Amino acid sequence: MLHITDAFSRIGEENAFAVLARATELQRQGKDIINLGIGQPDFRTPENIVEAAIKALKDGHHGYTPATGILPLREAVAADLHKRFGVDVSPELVMIVPGGKVTMFMAILMFGEPGADILYPDPGFPIYRSMIEFTGARAIPVPIREENGFAFSAEETLSLITPKTRLLIINSPANPTGGVTPKAEIDKLVKGLERFPDVAIMSDEIYAQMTYDGEKHQTLLAYPEIRDRLVLLDGWSKTYAMTGWRMGYSVWPKPLYDAARKLAVNSFSCVNASAQYAGLEALTGPQDAVHAMVQEFDRRRKVVIEGLNKLPNVSAATPKGAFYAFPNISKTGWRAKPLASALLEEAGVATIGGPDFGVYGEGFIRLSYANSTENIVRALERIEKFLNEHAQK
Ligand code: PLP
Repeated sequence: MLHITDAFSRIGEENAFAVLARATELQRQGKDIINLGIGQPDFRTPENIVEAAIKALKDGHHGYTPATGILPLREAVAADLHKRFGVDVSPELVMIVPGGKVTMFMAILMFGEPGADILYPDPGFPIYRSMIEFTGARAIPVPIREENGFAFSAEETLSLITPKTRLLIINSPANPTGGVTPKAEIDKLVKGLERFPDVAIMSDEIYAQMTYDGEKHQTLLAYPEIRDRLVLLDGWSKTYAMTGWRMGYSVWPKPLYDAARKLAVNSFSCVNASAQYAGLEALTGPQDAVHAMVQEFDRRRKVVIEGLNKLPNVSAATPKGAFYAFPNISKTGWRAKPLASALLEEAGVATIGGPDFGVYGEGFIRLSYANSTENIVRALERIEKFLNEHAQK
């Protein structure tokens, strides 16, 4: 009898990967499936970035790098943050990690243990809760509400902090809602956090460059008053269409950096060297591909939102960021997960049920519009037909 630790009875996962596997299986059986489930850009990684990785391999970058990443890349991250937000970040506090997820993994491991509380957005990226529970900490959801434009409320967030709270996770622009929290609300949160100096903050800004309608991303790095307890999570996956390269970075407050470095040394040692050179080219090379991709997402966003709002008993708020729509389907009479499952099996459209992102996700489904406009239009037609034929009382 093998004795795996109790922690593994509490670890969760991302249902988006299960939906992807099922969609792929249905495709293998010859079914025509439109995949609006998985959250990854449908664009190729720009050619200059791919070439930089090939060159790195040919130049002999085959070995370990420093656990925290190569210095030119950490410098490029710092320069990029300065260029985008006017903030000063020391390359000594930047760490290169294999994907955005790894920063949350590390930060949650640092603060989670039995007796501790960690606050996280709900609906939100499912790994937050999974990892919090893995550590034995209590996962306290911060409700993200449709009536609030899917922004978080500073007041509600602050009201949930107790002496047990060790870490607060925030995410804007957000998965799965596309919500962007306005600067005024973030100002209010930071002001309120002055009352709780023992609470660390992890800000997941992986969709920072994907905002629309003139909405500006407000980074938490811009608030010196919390820099000594702020962990920034960002990476290349979404911005540069590099999900499979596993390239992310964090900015740590000084007291936590060494703990993060040790976690790296104890697990992945360093990120794939050639991928780091690709990441360097991504940040220092031309940014046209990023702008073109965001413009294309913007066009699709309009198509998907307009189409969703024409569906019977469906309403969709206009997302200001990321590449997700999160329509309210509660008036259809369907519960979200059975609807997502029926849409996949019977209508050939992969989406994700809102409850896969937390209890406050009931009544919603997530559609990723990282797919062609043509496919989005076809998917909407299929969903409309399905809802008309399967009206629930
Ligand atoms: N954070 C959020 C909010 C995400 O939506 C995702 C990916 O979907 C990640 C982090 C993880 O990104 P990566 O694929 O780089 O690990």
